[in-house]
Amino acid sequence: ATPTSIMVGTGRAAESGILFKGGEHLERTHQLEAIVLDKTGTITKGKPEVTDFTGDEEALQLLASAEKGSEHPLAEAIVAHATEKDLAFLDVDDFTAIPGHGIVAQIAGKQILVGNRKLMLDHQIEIEGAEEVLVGYETSGKTAMLVAIEGTYRGIVAVADTIKETAPEAIKQLKELGIDVVMLTGDNERTAQAVAKQVGIDQVIAQVLPEEKADKVKEIQSQGKKVAMVGDGVNDAPALVTADIGIAIGTGTEVAIEAADVTILGGELLLLPKAISISHATIRNIR
Ligand code: ADP
Ligand code: MG
Repeated sequence: ATPTSIMVGTGRAAESGILFKGGEHLERTHQLEAIVLDKTGTITKGKPEVTDFTGDEEALQLLASAEKGSEHPLAEAIVAHATEKDLAFLDVDDFTAIPGHGIVAQIAGKQILVGNRKLMLDHQIEIEGAEEVLVGYETSGKTAMLVAIEGTYRGIVAVADTIKETAPEAIKQLKELGIDVVMLTGDNERTAQAVAKQVGIDQVIAQVLPEEKADKVKEIQSQGKKVAMVGDGVNDAPALVTADIGIAIGTGTEVAIEAADVTILGGELLLLPKAISISHATIRNIR
């Protein structure tokens, strides 16, 4: 590989907002066979909004107050919703985030749980009657969270995140370049499938705990494939490091950007097929 053509290639990429940390990453991008995309913030805009809440106002006040301590995009959506409704936030005495499951908080002597089925199961909360409603939200691509106060189920809060407008086109172009496209998410299977369908992805790995994301990347590598991982969150950093190419999407966290080999500015997914095309054009010139 001539250093000059690599420099021209990374320069061209940089003009489009694709920042390679070094020329070797451009060469490795040329060999990619699979791309794993995180769902929230990568395929979707990462700005979810509350669409439904089945509980009463007291439950909403407690759950929103509890979520104030979380930096998760789902929590931000709930806090914004309660703020719009002019609900007062209560002081939180204790708060624990359980990655991939939800949160547990203590407010005014009451225990508040917000999260998925697993969180409720772990705390032995009866959620009978909730299942059908949950499935309804999930089938339409919403993320539904269960709320329990003092051990009693109190409702479901559903949140929807819109897909990036250019996601379907970007995924189509990646497939045309012969790349396997996989969605990876901690969200539940049904929600993930609904979102995947909207953007034209047919390989979905859902309900993956943050610490398991890197293992999923390794599994694809063990099939003999060169894999890129694209993500934005703190949780994605180990998977970005594990992948043959780690790609941080520009609106992402510092942690993700540091862990990545490539940064895509502004979160534009069309820059993914573009990066691959540039690598092909560059390597062609070298050989
Ligand atoms: P993602 O892959 O979309 O970033 P996460 O692994 O962060 O998903 O979360 C997986 C699931 O855990 C969420 O879909 C939600 O059900 C639950 N969860 C995580 N954080 C919270 C929170 N702050 N409040 C309620 N539920 C949460
Ligand atoms: Mg995420």
